[in-house]
Amino acid sequence: TVDTNYELVDFNFIKQLYKPRNAFSHKGSFGHALIIAGSYGKMGAAVLSTRACLRSGVGLVSAHVPSCGVTILQTAAPEAMCRVDRNEKVITKLDYDVTSYSAVGVGPGIGTDSATTAFLHQLLVAYPKPLVLDADALNILSEHSEWWPLLPPHSILTPHPKEFARLFEENKDDFARIETALQQARTKNLVIVLKGHRTFIATPSGKGYFNTSGNAGMATGGSGDVLTGIITGLLAQGYSSSEAAILGVYIHGMAGDQAALHYGMGPMIAGDIIDNLSVIKRLE
Ligand code: AMP
Ligand code: MG
Repeated sequence: TVDTNYELVDFNFIKQLYKPRNAFSHKGSFGHALIIAGSYGKMGAAVLSTRACLRSGVGLVSAHVPSCGVTILQTAAPEAMCRVDRNEKVITKLDYDVTSYSAVGVGPGIGTDSATTAFLHQLLVAYPKPLVLDADALNILSEHSEWWPLLPPHSILTPHPKEFARLFEENKDDFARIETALQQARTKNLVIVLKGHRTFIATPSGKGYFNTSGNAGMATGGSGDVLTGIITGLLAQGYSSSEAAILGVYIHGMAGDQAALHYGMGPMIAGDIIDNLSVIKRLE
């Protein structure tokens, strides 16, 4: 058996981790994040992850979207720049130097089209730094277990329980899932964020972290896309993969708690989590 340390992530823990902004900083100090998201009918996922990323403190955000999504993205998130795919409905082509981005998050709303699958393979080969993989990027990976060795070391995977079950063929209770996450994170050199009521973060070092923020109002469409944007933005700012995941999950939950105070757990929607990212100021 492996000796594992568990840690509970609370406000004081996060306060230690958070790096306040230096007075002499400029937008170049905080990195340039790339969000690869969306497809025809699922542009909301791209908008949510891009807008959340913009609120994470990152310097610049670009979004790679299919051409049907350009007007949507530029209207809903004017602060972000667009990488326009040549395909109208899905993401198909990596025809730019992706290594120039400080961090890349891929997956929300991209679908599992064969051209998008080929794109993901291209990305895994081209990008050397940790990637954030979520949603359909994880579903594609589930169908291509031969790609595991291509994942950059310390990449961050953010599966909800169903995606986790597809990825690791594990569909038992919470305890079994946690054990699997720890073992997979260690052996594959990844950060695995097992999303749920008490999100569990398994790190490559073998340590596990239980998040304590968040509420059941966050069980609503798009909430995970917001998390992907936040974590990618933190990674772009220079936090390590483990730090970005732990900090991102906590901030996401804290913003969700603030949104629930305002709207109630029933009425709140994923966009409200973004609108309440001002809770980050408590850490400044
Ligand atoms: P997704 O299923 O990808 O949209 O992700 C849902 C997000 O909402 C994850 O970050 C979950 O941790 C969070 N979430 C869902 N249900 C709950 C809950 N009951 N309590 C706290 N957080 C939750
Ligand atoms: Mg999701």
